[in-house]
Amino acid sequence: MRLIDGRAIAAAITEGVVADIAALPTAPVLAVVVPTDDEATAWYVRSIARAAAKAGVDCRVFTLDKPTGPEISAELDRLSGDPAVHGIICQTPLPDGVTLDEVGLHIAVAKDVDGANPESLGRLAAGLPAYAPATAHAVLEILRREGVPMVGASAVVVGRSTVVGKPAALLLLAEHATVTVAHSRTRDLAAVCRTADIVVAAVGRPHLLGPGHVGPDAVVIDVGTNPTEDGGLVGDVDPAVQAAALTPVPGGVGPVTTALLLRHVVDAARG
Ligand code: NAP
Repeated sequence: MRLIDGRAIAAAITEGVVADIAALPTAPVLAVVVPTDDEATAWYVRSIARAAAKAGVDCRVFTLDKPTGPEISAELDRLSGDPAVHGIICQTPLPDGVTLDEVGLHIAVAKDVDGANPESLGRLAAGLPAYAPATAHAVLEILRREGVPMVGASAVVVGRSTVVGKPAALLLLAEHATVTVAHSRTRDLAAVCRTADIVVAAVGRPHLLGPGHVGPDAVVIDVGTNPTEDGGLVGDVDPAVQAAALTPVPGGVGPVTTALLLRHVVDAARG
């Protein structure tokens, strides 16, 4: 089974990002709104900031101390109206009772580089220009760069979240795949997945998909990132599966997601 090298794909995307930034009059600006003191979020924001600095994106972090929903929305409105800012992302977890859909509505669609505004998802569904969530875009970009045929292919997306499963399914549909979306109520998940040409796992359950779920010719994209007790990460797919190709965790979808987030910021800066 071939392991797909997400880091190499990310490096190739970043090369293009760096070249495009060189042609811009000023560095594109990414605003990261952090409404939490969660340590895992802080780690993720530092990793975005590092990747941005390397590529030449000006990453500005706006940390809000125990904000209310309206305070987060007001900050996103302010950044949406600031002509110096090209891309905006809002980190989670959000305060209790506040949803990303609610605050995401306050990110201007043209600056919504991680597809958090429900209007972006609607535009994606309608085939109008919009940024897909970077993770969903990463699924498609990996398939494209690996030369995986999508037209007429049977694709199963396991997971139907607004941030990964649904947009990944819409993007596959736009490539003319025949798409099935599976979720926690799906009957006989193994039977649904086994005959698919493309399997996308976006669940958040360690090794949920095992050898019985995946056919020998399938290309499997593992979006899951499940922390282990020893500080590592495992995916939703058991690496013992015998497929044609699999994205490893870590080193698969994750690095491509970060590279595409920066790609979106540059595209937003170019207008
Ligand atoms: P989520 O919002 O919790 O959604 C999980 C989905 O999985 C839901 O649709 C749920 O079904 C479905 N599900 C749960 N248990 C299932 C089961 N036993 N069988 C089939 N489906 C099941 O999670 P998410 O935000 O989409 O994230 C999914 C995974 O991707 C997580 O591990 C997350 O950490 C990872 N992730 C990775 C990146 C990256 O850059 N690599 C980015 C974002 C997320 P119901 O709808 O029926 O509840």
